[in-house]
Amino acid sequence: MRQVRMLMRGLVRRCPRCGSSGIFSSWFGLRDVCPRCGLQIEREDGYWVGAMTISVVSTMLLFVVLMAVAVIWTWPNLPVVELIAGGVVGSIVFPIVTYPICKSLWLATDLAFFHVEAGKLPSSAE
Ligand SMILES: [Zn+2]
Repeated sequence: MRQVRMLMRGLVRRCPRCGSSGIFSSWFGLRDVCPRCGLQIEREDGYWVGAMTISVVSTMLLFVVLMAVAVIWTWPNLPVVELIAGGVVGSIVFPIVTYPICKSLWLATDLAFFHVEAGKLPSSAE
């Protein structure tokens, strides 16, 4: 259950290792190191592709679910213009607002399932 606790901490923008809320300096500003436990947060180039993947996949899932609900709810008189406008705006705003959560969730996923911490990466250990 250690992994679940780490993922839950990531979902609420906390350090996955110690639970500190200080890993963000602002909504979008991520510190280089956790101020409580010293977990290295800033990583090599390309590390945050996992966070972008979480962001894209969660946005697509939300889009599909909300469109299905809207189509079922309004059938057979679909408000096509409103659905398209809502879909476009939601697909732009949602990933921007939730990107910090995706970053802390990716950090937690990486730590919980791959046990990778900066300085202990397989490529840098050799
Ligand atoms: Zn920490």
